[in-house]
Amino acid sequence: MDRVSKNIVINEDLVFEKKSGNRSSFKLPEISGELPAKNFLPENYLRDEIEDFPQLNEVEIARHFSRLSNYNYHLDLGLYPLGSCTMKYNPKLNERIASMREFTEIHPFTPYEHAQGILKILKDLEDLLLEITGMDGITLQPTAGAHGELTGMLLIRALLEYRGNPRKVVLIPDSAHGTNPASATLCGYKAITIKSDEKGCINLDDFKEKLTEDVACLMLTNPNTLGIFEENILEISKLLHENGSLLYMDGANFNAFMGKARPGDMGVDVMHLNVHKTFSTPHGGGGPGAGPVAVKKELVPFLPLPRIEERDGKYHLNFNGEKSIGKVATFYGNVNVLIKTLAYILKLGSDGIREVSEMAVLNANYIRTKLKEILHLEYDTPTLHEVVFDDKFQEEYGISTMDMAKRLLDKGFHPPTVYFPLIVHGALMIEPTETESKEELDEFIKAFKEIVKEARENPEKLHRAPENLRRKRFDEVLAARKPVLKWKKSDEGDK
Ligand SMILES: *Cc1c(COP(=O)(O)O)cnc(C)c1O
Repeated sequence: MDRVSKNIVINEDLVFEKKSGNRSSFKLPEISGELPAKNFLPENYLRDEIEDFPQLNEVEIARHFSRLSNYNYHLDLGLYPLGSCTMKYNPKLNERIASMREFTEIHPFTPYEHAQGILKILKDLEDLLLEITGMDGITLQPTAGAHGELTGMLLIRALLEYRGNPRKVVLIPDSAHGTNPASATLCGYKAITIKSDEKGCINLDDFKEKLTEDVACLMLTNPNTLGIFEENILEISKLLHENGSLLYMDGANFNAFMGKARPGDMGVDVMHLNVHKTFSTPHGGGGPGAGPVAVKKELVPFLPLPRIEERDGKYHLNFNGEKSIGKVATFYGNVNVLIKTLAYILKLGSDGIREVSEMAVLNANYIRTKLKEILHLEYDTPTLHEVVFDDKFQEEYGISTMDMAKRLLDKGFHPPTVYFPLIVHGALMIEPTETESKEELDEFIKAFKEIVKEARENPEKLHRAPENLRRKRFDEVLAARKPVLKWKKSDEGDK
């Protein structure tokens, strides 16, 4: 397959810039007499004409939007290897089910006696997530991973306050996602960084030294953002519990081991799931998502309200709970996303869920093994679902991670995550996910090999990349400081 089409390059005008004359897609019958709007709209809201209003016929409109849709790179088009983001293919079946009228037209204020079906769906999802995570209680309310973190931190604070002292500090490894320290800080805690060891795991000496009586919890992403499983998790959770502290697990990378092991069995007290990553919902650009938070028994009374309960063969909403932290979202959270989550889990079953993790790990290690010779690996530990390379081998040619990522665009791929995690200089973080075939991964590997060869033989080409796209290399600093969000004809040819 040739991934790059250079034949059709059309720069599409904004619909307001199209000067197509007095056309329209349909004809309305002439109105006789006064416009009805004149009867009730104030004079100043009435106008006979809208200045520069686009007047296009159906062909022009269809082509305009079809062309715009082709400007996009998306999962229906090809591999999207953004590390940490888990951009897996989302089965169309989930969408089909979630858009059934019975779900889309139910009003959130429907009395629960008449909303038994949706409550059953949410309760079934709660039970399944508890089974998969090995935890005791769960809330589906949070609407994102970071929102789940905040909810989890509020739960930990509530429990510690109930025990008599909320404590002051949250320990966070240096490989953590930026949302972790943000959530801890929002909750009034001081975030203190724990160093990684040479294997990419928590440096135990540093951890023990910082584990004082002020520590409320450790926020641990497992496997971490290097894709490495925390091998000392049992010792870490034991030390925390002996200290009266809790273990929070950022479960955004749960697609690496779900169905294989359960966080609840590792001493995790609170965890959030990113169902939009792990359980396949289209995400990015700010949502929609959901970040259910699962907890151990001692924290159950603090969970947000209302709780869904099953009694006498009926589902009820329980709004009572003195210790609850209250509500964290309107109604029950992002129900539409939660329906997709349940559809995904039910379709796969327990064997399928396990296979997802196995394939995610296999695909990441395939990439790791194939690219290891040409890209430097700072942490050469067997990884789970993602792998972090860097640009050290390419330094001598003056080629950076950014150059390689831009050149990948020319070859018809979305680039991996770049310059994250921060502990790897010039990081190139690749997460292929389980939905990619060997053929697609081989094309990606081939493209990377070509790029590394070009870096050696023709570095200038990489500095100029991308060459095949409508837009060439941006000035990153200028684009961030002075973004031009409206494309104008006069910009044509600009870099
Ligand atoms: C994506 C991610 C988050 C944040 O989740 P959002 O749903 O984007 O808020 C937190 N931690 C890790 C490790 C992640 O990958």
